[in-house]
Amino acid sequence: MIRKNTKTSVVTRLPGKSKKSEEEPIQLLKGMKDILPADQIYWDYIRQKVKEISQNYCFRYIDTPVLEKTSLFAKSVGADTDIVAKEMFSFIDRGGENVSLRPENTASVVRAYIEHGMISEPQPVKLYYFGPFFRHDRPQAGRYRQFYQFGFESLGDASPIVDAQLIVMVRGLYEEFGLETEAQVNSIGCPICRPEYEKLLIDYFKSKRRFLCEDCKKRLVKNPLRLLDCKNEECQELAQEAPQSVDYLDDECRSHFVKVLEYLDGAEMPYSLNPRLVRGLDYYTRTAFEIWAPGKGGHHNALGGGGRYDNLARLLGGRPTPACGFAGGVERLIMVLKENNVQIPQEKIADIYLAQLGESARKKALKLYELLRRGGIRISGGFSKDGLKPQLAEASKLGVAYTLILGQKEILDNTILIRDMENGSQEVVDYKKVVEEVKKRLSRITNGLTVKKINES
Ligand code: AMP
Repeated sequence: MIRKNTKTSVVTRLPGKSKKSEEEPIQLLKGMKDILPADQIYWDYIRQKVKEISQNYCFRYIDTPVLEKTSLFAKSVGADTDIVAKEMFSFIDRGGENVSLRPENTASVVRAYIEHGMISEPQPVKLYYFGPFFRHDRPQAGRYRQFYQFGFESLGDASPIVDAQLIVMVRGLYEEFGLETEAQVNSIGCPICRPEYEKLLIDYFKSKRRFLCEDCKKRLVKNPLRLLDCKNEECQELAQEAPQSVDYLDDECRSHFVKVLEYLDGAEMPYSLNPRLVRGLDYYTRTAFEIWAPGKGGHHNALGGGGRYDNLARLLGGRPTPACGFAGGVERLIMVLKENNVQIPQEKIADIYLAQLGESARKKALKLYELLRRGGIRISGGFSKDGLKPQLAEASKLGVAYTLILGQKEILDNTILIRDMENGSQEVVDYKKVVEEVKKRLSRITNGLTVKKINES
């Protein structure tokens, strides 16, 4: 029963009654994007590869809600970061709660880890995700307000080998896509040694204050590390000469970082040290890394980034839990795959096409379609098409091995035609045996292919 809500009413402002506004099609919100069927092969492929590599390294899948309390991100990402201060989709919900669409997922995963007592599971707890994130940023090429990320989080292990293996794994993932990527690494220390470094950084940039962009002038007070990765050319030039965090690590952070690099060397994984790599979020400690890929005209793109965040769980009210993670952008990856002309293997969607001629055949075909599908046969059919020619054309386009043809004569004889799409030969078979006959023919193809492959190799 639908009950009428008498307490609240939703006020919808209707557009004026002018003819013009009625005719204007409603368009996408700025910075949003439809993912059309033609692009889905990229999405399926990326999802599949992310799942495969996650399983190889024992990461388990987690989904968290797209909507969380705003305080979760303010506390973790940092109230003074661009993401929280300028880019979150935040609003007060109907219950008066200040909520935000998630701009990233590490904070949510750590919240879930604490909330579900995962600290009592064997550590590290390794989780991965794939989903949409939201940032009200200035839209530009490859940058959206709703974008997708996949990510890996390893919680509960402080060992530098966790950082190293994550970098190796992520680079291996991009290799699976045929991309030769570059891993850049740095260490930004911890809350014990970083303040001294930040002080030196502030002193250095203060002396150059008049050359800094307006954003960096604010960063000088609020988020000095971010002075190092400003995109403004003049600020970048100044950053070249700035003190480097690795020179001011305390003994523990230094030895942790040296170990990460030794493990990477041991795995024969190429990397480059980037003293200006700081990552934008407050929660990072020690290792910070990014994965870069070559793109169009020698232009390089950051595919994703990550690092260690040993203090985040405690910051969110949990027990101290060292952790390390990575997040990669999906749209950015697709852009790079296209720029590098990477071919995505296309899976055939059907082995069989079912064509029907006339109304009674159409009725019977509907039932046969179900029979074949339940028999585990990948089938497609053009119920809205009349005539054999357009249906055979569609069958060829799909690349099916056989087309089943059901016409008036076959209905009367209780038979069906099986057309071999490779040589055009047709055979009449007993309707009752059609599933069996199709399976027999399909298995012949598969076995034939296997024999051919073995002989070839
Ligand atoms: P971040 O969470 O900012 O470290 O971003 C990690 C990766 O996500 C980036 O390297 C991009 O590939 C991707 N990414 C971040 N923001 C956006 C955005 N607004 N639109 C598209 N991709 C994004």
